[in-house]
Amino acid sequence: MTRFAESTITFPYKRSLGPVTGAFMTALAEKRILGVRSDAGVLVPPMEWDPATGAELGADLVEVGPAGTVESWTWVPEPTEQHPLDRPFAFAFIRLDGASSPLLHAVDAASPAALSAGMRVAPRWRGRRVGHITDIACFVPGERSEVDGDDVGGPGQPVELMDYTAAVTYSTPVLAMADHALAATREHRLIGLRCPTCERVYVGGDRPYCPVDALELDADAEVDLPNVGTITNFIVVEPVQYPGQTATEPFARVFVLLDGTDVVLTYQPVIDLPVGDIHVGVRVAAVWAPRDAPVDTFSGIGRPMGSLLGWTPSGEPDVNDPDLVNRIY
Ligand SMILES: [Zn+2]
Repeated sequence: MTRFAESTITFPYKRSLGPVTGAFMTALAEKRILGVRSDAGVLVPPMEWDPATGAELGADLVEVGPAGTVESWTWVPEPTEQHPLDRPFAFAFIRLDGASSPLLHAVDAASPAALSAGMRVAPRWRGRRVGHITDIACFVPGERSEVDGDDVGGPGQPVELMDYTAAVTYSTPVLAMADHALAATREHRLIGLRCPTCERVYVGGDRPYCPVDALELDADAEVDLPNVGTITNFIVVEPVQYPGQTATEPFARVFVLLDGTDVVLTYQPVIDLPVGDIHVGVRVAAVWAPRDAPVDTFSGIGRPMGSLLGWTPSGEPDVNDPDLVNRIY
């Protein structure tokens, strides 16, 4: 059975809200819902421009709701972590009292049987509010608003910025060859594959093909790669302190050409090699985790490192070969 590795890339940023959305968010923190007057009536949520005509709307804001009427709905039987509720719920178009356009939000109802077009709903506010649409935890059946837990309130000042985290989660199938190469690192072995036709050697863990000869490489092609090599390229990363960044000091990633092969291992960590001392031509040796240490089995983007922790200077003299820098892959 194929193993899948999950990896999530997040892009956190702040966005400025402007005079209309900012006022809407500020009001939410105060348990009020605002719309904006347009030719068509009152739009909720309020916008700066009329979505029908593109005309600029004056910031003529008006309070609506908080209760409203469900116009249509759809049931979500199996919520994911990105949904507003962790139990089955409905997404509904809710026309708040005084509004001309419906607001899309969640309705916390026991079952689809408890929902109908025309039913009345009211907000369940969060106790601690930040000025965000999720200050309304959801809507609940009936005319009366509720507060979830203690009513702690909002920030007490105009909301002008919103934290936004865009995230993409990849689920990548892990090749059997990758798991095999990973397992080999526990025995402090680096596996390679030698093409029987052209004799090129490829690092194990990738798709087992020689791209030159379009030849699938099987177990007979397997060879052990040397544990020593030479740095051909390097990158020094100056960590920007974005949310989630754990590194605080500059660190390096190096490319290592393994002895006697054409194999270049890319973006490898270094150990006991200060950033300022890294240069092309440094001789390095693999550093392994103890054989019984837990191994990182991640294999999403890039090769699994497994028990290979990184590379440390071997103490041999530098290699002076101007062609080394051309060995990137
Ligand atoms: Zn080949």
